[in-house]
Amino acid sequence: VQGYQGRKVAVLGLGRSGLATARALVAGGAETLLWDDSPESRAKAEAEGFVMTDLTRNGALEGVAVLVVSPGIPHLYPAPHKVIARALEAGVPVDNDIGLFFRSYATKDWDGFDTVPRVVAITGSNGKSTTTALVRHILDEAGRPVQMAGNIGRGVLDIEPAQDGEVVVLELSSYQTELARALTPDVAVFTNLSPDHLDRHNGMGGYFAAKRRLFAEGGPDRAVVGVDELEGRFMADQLAEGPEDDRVIRVSSGSKLEGFGWAVFARKGFLSEWRKGRQVASIDLRGIKGLPGAHNHQNACAAYAACRSLGVGPKEIERALQSFAGLPHRSQLVGERGGVRFVNDSKATNVDSAAKALQAFDRIRWIAGGMGKEGGIAALAPVLGSVVKAYLIGHSARDFALQIGDLPHEICETMERAVARAAEEAEAGEVVLLAPAAASFDQYPNFEKRGEDFTARVRAIIGG
Ligand code: ADP
Repeated sequence: VQGYQGRKVAVLGLGRSGLATARALVAGGAETLLWDDSPESRAKAEAEGFVMTDLTRNGALEGVAVLVVSPGIPHLYPAPHKVIARALEAGVPVDNDIGLFFRSYATKDWDGFDTVPRVVAITGSNGKSTTTALVRHILDEAGRPVQMAGNIGRGVLDIEPAQDGEVVVLELSSYQTELARALTPDVAVFTNLSPDHLDRHNGMGGYFAAKRRLFAEGGPDRAVVGVDELEGRFMADQLAEGPEDDRVIRVSSGSKLEGFGWAVFARKGFLSEWRKGRQVASIDLRGIKGLPGAHNHQNACAAYAACRSLGVGPKEIERALQSFAGLPHRSQLVGERGGVRFVNDSKATNVDSAAKALQAFDRIRWIAGGMGKEGGIAALAPVLGSVVKAYLIGHSARDFALQIGDLPHEICETMERAVARAAEEAEAGEVVLLAPAAASFDQYPNFEKRGEDFTARVRAIIGG
């Protein structure tokens, strides 16, 4: 990281991104003050040779040029971490690794590199990881040098020096876009908006505002905007000079978008690209194994638009889509026995993503529950028609049981029991689907571990 040589920089939170930040700061000649509330995280950092400074102590921030904060630490709502509150009182700027990245790495005068990478940054409530991985895959298949970082893959300050013509693809959460002091991607992508993380953003307005910062004035040269919700339509309208303005590429799964300068949409399994009132490309998305369901067609459209705006041709993109393997824990087929399929969508941590997973199948034995989110799961009512029975686990099990009304269900508490019961009762043609509609933190460190647990339980029963 450039610009902090000989200056004091405090880093709060020493997970993957915090450690990458610390390393990059040290490499850039900064004096680092590092802290994490968790003794385990501190021990890990110490094992790497870093020295700890208790930032919670009075006066610890004196002379500090900037406080760099990890995304997991609340910086505003429901209440800022004590160290952040102190920094704000003392006028110490608060930033994150994304802000540092855009300030130093992605500027023209970064002298550690010959060339500056183009940056594609992707945000939205759902589909971020899939879209990010898909953009990386398409560019890779098209022979363009590419690196993927942010919420997926490496921390942004962990990436390798850029090569000529390289593209860096970043997945950014609302926590990250809200805090970063600089956000200047070349291409910014907004997939969709549905309620999530509302406690950290003080409601839907704050959540949308956090995501919108990626598209602020002076931001991206090109904006790819999902317009299936009102918020996306509003943002696209504001970013464009008029409907003809092709700096904005509108994206939809479901709606025909013909009257715009540039649009990409999926309907009835086909992706269409329209420019200036005429169709310029069409791709059959049906049967692409790595992208099942309408929600993945939305992701395909967003990734297509981002890659087109970087100059990749429709045919190249079509070929790459066909070889995309999908990501684990997102509608991932774990196995099949006696005509029953077992599908892991542990990543369905909120209501909208669970709804999409539930809509992708017909007869479902649904494993759900965990750390429930604000608003509960009442909004799932319209898509529960395909659920034969629910097997409820975790902290929210009883709560969910009340909210699903007269749908047959069973309180199973644990994944082990839920998988065993669902497998026992499932009949040929049905799908045992883990789509929790809740976070994993009551029973697991993260959604990946939850998905791995499901997968292991399934394999123990069906073999393989
Ligand atoms: P994110 O990184 O935004 O959480 P993922 O690609 O990891 O997105 O997908 C998260 C969850 O949302 C998965 O359960 C997946 O099935 C579902 N999902 C994926 N894409 C979409 C989409 N475009 N709209 C709604 N849900 C989606």
